[in-house]
Amino acid sequence: MKPLLDITDVSLSYHSLSGETPALSHISFQLMPGEFLAIVGPSGCGKSTLLNLICGLLRPEQGQILLDGTPVTSGDCRIGYMLQKDNLFEWRSIYKNVMLGLEINNKKTPENIAYVNHLLEQYDLAEFKSARPSQLSGGMRQRAALIRTLALKPDILLLDEPFSALDYQTRLEVREDICNILRSEKKTVILVTHDISEAIAMTDRVLILTSRPAKLLKTINIESRDTLSSQKYFDEIREVLK
Ligand code: ADP
Ligand code: MG
Repeated sequence: MKPLLDITDVSLSYHSLSGETPALSHISFQLMPGEFLAIVGPSGCGKSTLLNLICGLLRPEQGQILLDGTPVTSGDCRIGYMLQKDNLFEWRSIYKNVMLGLEINNKKTPENIAYVNHLLEQYDLAEFKSARPSQLSGGMRQRAALIRTLALKPDILLLDEPFSALDYQTRLEVREDICNILRSEKKTVILVTHDISEAIAMTDRVLILTSRPAKLLKTINIESRDTLSSQKYFDEIREVLK
């Protein structure tokens, strides 16, 4: 099987008047279709920079990023991006919010509309179509944001600390919800998080980055999620991050 995402020897520095800030150094990894990957690393190490490169918002100074064999471009519809803030618009109903991506990209085909309606049904938001975002719980809002992203049928989803704005209890529920949705929609996912247990609970493989400029320090395959193994992975990752 060919990798969906192929990252080879990518480096990037930010340049400003005050000088150069190296952010990423010689990063290489591959992602297979359907795989869930977590990226963990100290705050400010370059995780968001890496996602911005993968989605084409930034270009690597060195190295190459291929999605399904071709370079990504800014605004590439093959990539869905979800951030910490759900960015739902209060002046639009939930239905109009989840339709937004299709609207902007001129993709409101009957087939795509049916798919969004199916997702709303499937993930318990159908009866909230005409509600405003503020009428929904944090978890429901995050589900709505995910459906808006899935509407464009991206090949790969990038999640940048998507749950860190939620309180602890909600975060546990939402991450399970979102994980189930992504697995049943058979998505390929990269989750950036500084929450080690979240990485272990949600993904198949954890990449650990060094502090800035980020280098790949270690990869850990999550083979089992029972309590004992999870604790073992947790200790191992924490030890590496020290
Ligand atoms: P993380 O997501 O891991 O917290 P980022 O990728 O956001 O880290 O940032 C990595 C480093 O690059 C940080 O030190 C940050 O200050 C710096 N940085 C991020 N964006 C810019 C920018 N546009 N210009 C200059 N430096 C930046
Ligand atoms: Mg970040």
